Amino acid sequence: MPRDFLKGVRDQYDVVVIGSGLGGLTAANLLGRAGHRVLLLEQHYKLGGLATWFRRPGGHIFDISLHGFPVGMIKSCRRYWNRQIADQIVPLERIRFDNPMFSLTTTYDRVDFTRLLVERFGVAPETVQEFFDTARGMNFYGDQQQTVGQLFERFFPGRQDIVRLLMEPIVYANGSTLEDPALTYGIVFSNFMSRGVYIFQGGTDQLMQLMHEELRRNGVDVRIRCDVEQILVDNGRVSGVRLWGQTIGTRAVVSNANLRSTIFHLLDTRHFDPEFLEQAGEVRLNTSSTQVYLALKPGEQIDEATGDLLFSSTAEAFRTDLLLSPQITSRTFSFYYPRTRPQARPRHAIVSSTNARYEDWKGLSPEAYRAAKRALIEDTLDALEKYVPRCREKIEWVEAATPITFEHYTKHLGGASFGTKFEGLAVSRALPTQVQGLYHAGSVGIIMSGWLGAINYGVIVANDVDSWLMPPATPRMTSPLVSEN
Ligand SMILES: Cc1cc2nc3c(=O)[nH]c(=O)nc-3n(C[C@H](O)[C@H](O)[C@H](O)COP(=O)(O)OP(=O)(O)OC[C@H]3O[C@@H](n4cnc5c(N)ncnc54)[C@H](O)[C@@H]3O)c2cc1C
Repeated sequence: MPRDFLKGVRDQYDVVVIGSGLGGLTAANLLGRAGHRVLLLEQHYKLGGLATWFRRPGGHIFDISLHGFPVGMIKSCRRYWNRQIADQIVPLERIRFDNPMFSLTTTYDRVDFTRLLVERFGVAPETVQEFFDTARGMNFYGDQQQTVGQLFERFFPGRQDIVRLLMEPIVYANGSTLEDPALTYGIVFSNFMSRGVYIFQGGTDQLMQLMHEELRRNGVDVRIRCDVEQILVDNGRVSGVRLWGQTIGTRAVVSNANLRSTIFHLLDTRHFDPEFLEQAGEVRLNTSSTQVYLALKPGEQIDEATGDLLFSSTAEAFRTDLLLSPQITSRTFSFYYPRTRPQARPRHAIVSSTNARYEDWKGLSPEAYRAAKRALIEDTLDALEKYVPRCREKIEWVEAATPITFEHYTKHLGGASFGTKFEGLAVSRALPTQVQGLYHAGSVGIIMSGWLGAINYGVIVANDVDSWLMPPATPRMTSPLVSEN
């Protein structure tokens, strides 16, 4: 008999939030703070979605997606969470690139990138400035036709090395490609360039603990191991959700689950217009990832000069298809020093991340899957040797995650790391026009994903839900501008 994870739950809420990714958590927090009765249902036994962590024997804690986000997180966390969370956001100082075209270390901000582009890559200062201004000036309402590749060709024709410098971290950060709309690149790149790359000091485990406490203070009823099976609709309006054989009434639902699962699995498709379903059916999923988690033995150290974040590649040229190939040539290493978790036992850890295709992992026999994971670990150790000499001797724990792992823990179709491609945003925003009271706040494309994008999308949607629940004379919440992301 399973434990009753719904013990004491009410019959009726104002809002049910499905999923505790950063978008769902933030929407729930703001709606609770605004006085609505909010129920947050998470299918996993932990909060956070992709913003999560896991613990292994020996005091090792691994973060899944704590590698870097833009400075805008400080403002968003201060406004929509609390000061304590905002105050623990700190900059990463050493971002490294190492590939056959160049090796360099940077603070990854506009000042340092201008210096590098001018002094090292020989670009005219005016061109660099114009490029930055163009990227900074892009917004959601601008030209959506120009691609990232065309933008680079306009400013740096034929310069594959510069494309690599400008693009590699962003591809890693959100799975975007040279074929995606340039504005999506411009917004994300400019956000990073404003002040560099930041992380949360204390680790994802502490962040989730602080967020959970804040949710409780705001009266949000938080339940884990609650896999929502169905969103119920009555007369074109949301009326409830079903799980564990129980129906819970609600006036609104915010789904933080994958957009395609929300539409095609959680609802009966007869509630949608055929044109909407066609548009939703064309939304592409984003690609997935593999990761290798490595922990050093107590007392073993990584030299701080190794950097915080290292974009390493052995490929001669920069090509999106190479970044996704199972024959891995590009890896992003995150190095975690004891300062990442000042409150915990002093430990050094490394997470190697690579973009990957679900299809390359799905359908393998159990033996082939195990062998592929083992090969992923061995190849990663070989690659790491260059940066952490004798790493095999120093390591106490190593394991790997694949697209199948991501699918298993988050229920993202295809183990998608960043939800859907950009076209998902219009479909996500149109949901309440199809079913009243139905909203989606979760990774859709490039702007609305990543830690900051997900939080800010949660804010925008909380605002919409608040207005729907009690249409105010004046807006009650303030949402961040898309360009602040
Ligand atoms: C390997 C990797 C590295 C990354 N690195 C970074 C980084 O360095 N910086 C950065 O900014 N971003 C990074 N990201 C992306 C970032 O983590 C995500 O974009 C963001 O956390 C997604 O938040 P979300 O709100 O979309 O929800 P998600 O994290 O996608 O969570 C959705 C939640 O919904 C739950 N759920 C789904 N279906 C149901 C259901 N039926 N019932 C109940 N619950 C359900 C899931 O269990 C999950 O908890 C990384 C992602 C990956 C995969």
